[in-house]
Amino acid sequence: MSRTIQIAIDGPSGAGKSTMARLLAQQLRFVYVDTGAMYRAVGLFAQRAGVEEEEIEAILPMLNEIQIDIQYVDGNQRIFLGGEDVSEAVRTEKSGRYASAVSALPAVRQFLLGLQRRLAENQNVIMDGRDIGTVILPQAQVKIFLTASPEERARRRFAELRQKGQPADYDQVYQDLLERDQRDSRRTAAPLRPAADAVTLDATAYSLEETLERMKQIIGEKTGYAV
Ligand code: C5P
Repeated sequence: MSRTIQIAIDGPSGAGKSTMARLLAQQLRFVYVDTGAMYRAVGLFAQRAGVEEEEIEAILPMLNEIQIDIQYVDGNQRIFLGGEDVSEAVRTEKSGRYASAVSALPAVRQFLLGLQRRLAENQNVIMDGRDIGTVILPQAQVKIFLTASPEERARRRFAELRQKGQPADYDQVYQDLLERDQRDSRRTAAPLRPAADAVTLDATAYSLEETLERMKQIIGEKTGYAV
């Protein structure tokens, strides 16, 4: 039996992981797995259940009520919470903050680990997150740690929010990003850090096309796949 190919992309918020992963998945005909959406769905559940961000542990007794499903529609990942398609609802800044809060809880990480590993079992995947190369898919043939300066990441996130017509303030976006960076890297449960065998790519000075090219080069070198 030939082994499937796993590509892990980790890095801080706003580095462009999901944009890159989506494009690469299309070109490679791999399945794109967005793990951030899963944490966002748990965050949305917490929000809806009236759990305060500061008292996020209150979600723990409710974990067994949370039902998350992933489906692929025209190659795009859709995420369902209790049967409801929440793919758009989880994209707000508030959901991002809640996602970051719930993701620091080891029981939540454990809860999502099985789902993430199952998705990578029988198909070629490109999966993005914070701990894919370190915890979820330590055997991945390709591990890329994609990063960029906080200012550049905030600028991109701000432009993206404006483009979507969501009200945004640059300073607020920048502060939220720094806070999330700190929380993601300082937590004890699966902190954000590059795997020992990851290639770190700093995209601060790169355009989208340049970043994509560089990533294709890395994938080609590691897998022999011509992308
Ligand atoms: O990538 P995205 O911004 O959608 O992720 C939302 C939050 O979920 C992140 O800030 C991070 O705290 C958390 N996360 C995580 N591990 C992952 C993916 C996301 O802790 N594999």
